[in-house]
Amino acid sequence: MKIITVLGARPQFIKASALSRAISRHNELNPEKVITEIILHTGQHFDHNMSQTFFEDMAIPKPTYNLDINSLSHGAMTGRMLEKIEKILLTEKPDWVIVYGDTNSTLAGALAASKLHIPVAHIESGLRSFNMKMPEEINRILTDQISKILFCPNDTALENLNKEGFVEKPVSVVKTGDIMLDSALHYKNSAIKPKSLISLDTNFAVLTMHRAENTDNPQRLNDYIENLLDLCGTQKVVFAIHPRTAAKLAQFNIQFEHENLFKIDPVGYLEMIWLLDNCSLVLTDSGGLQKEAFFFHKPCVTLRSETEWTELVEVGANILCPEPENLLLSVSTQLKRSINYNSALYGCGSAAQQIVETLTESNHV
Ligand code: UDP
Repeated sequence: MKIITVLGARPQFIKASALSRAISRHNELNPEKVITEIILHTGQHFDHNMSQTFFEDMAIPKPTYNLDINSLSHGAMTGRMLEKIEKILLTEKPDWVIVYGDTNSTLAGALAASKLHIPVAHIESGLRSFNMKMPEEINRILTDQISKILFCPNDTALENLNKEGFVEKPVSVVKTGDIMLDSALHYKNSAIKPKSLISLDTNFAVLTMHRAENTDNPQRLNDYIENLLDLCGTQKVVFAIHPRTAAKLAQFNIQFEHENLFKIDPVGYLEMIWLLDNCSLVLTDSGGLQKEAFFFHKPCVTLRSETEWTELVEVGANILCPEPENLLLSVSTQLKRSINYNSALYGCGSAAQQIVETLTESNHV
């Protein structure tokens, strides 16, 4: 069996590493049924510390193709990816195309494949924020519509797809648990303390923020920074600044310093694992970090008005902070809560193995 994995963004490298490991294990155990995986990197994320570092740290096979498509508007980026991916699929003729999550790379890979009648497997399928202004929501809904196997990370995703009528369609909907948990468990004992944080040990918050709705409005971004500085009056914060956010802060000329604020460049996954393991709180608008906070038993404040990971809010592990001025209140609420981290909301860390088994047994090819 030949598969092409289409990826392009940081969280996809983390998810794909688990699948590549499971494929290698499968190939060792089943030499007569080898899966050949070809990696196609769209180039959507291209900075060394947003891409290459992840391939090196997580031993992801080197991409056979790198399209180097980035820094464009949504339409231009998706359109160029579509054209180039189609050419590669026509040459490679894979049995499956695998896509992850909700980025432009996800949609372009799924669209190119489905138009050529190559079956698509969507990993992290069924999530919904119900906010159609988010480009991610558009990408995930459309990708689900053209996939043949929809791998769901949790019950909520499964329920969403059931409500949308997927049970009636000639596709397979499979709940596997969350593939990010596979990675978190695999790398938990390989965590590396970031060199720039030598003086820091525990009792700090980790902050990441990069969603367009938070970064692209100068007033909103400035309000977040002001409230962050207030929070730093009582709380050490490590802010790993995404390139998009750094560019917007520079464009809007927003400058800020505080003795309790540790501004750092984006870190590699092994360093992020160290931060998650040692922090006392996560502040984020990232989808992945909301779950990872739960994996590492850390309370989370989500800097958005809705989340697709609703079960985390229901169990109290996560609280939504829709407005910057709510930041301090949300933090103090979350730090006071007693949170039960014992429920297996995201499975047991064997998603990648289940995905490989389902692909090898599938009759969609
Ligand atoms: N991450 C990382 N270094 C950082 C920030 C995030 O390794 O400096 C990881 C994080 O642990 C998570 C993933 O990147 O697994 C989340 O990616 P991102 O926030 O870019 O995307 P989203 O999850 O929102 O789609």
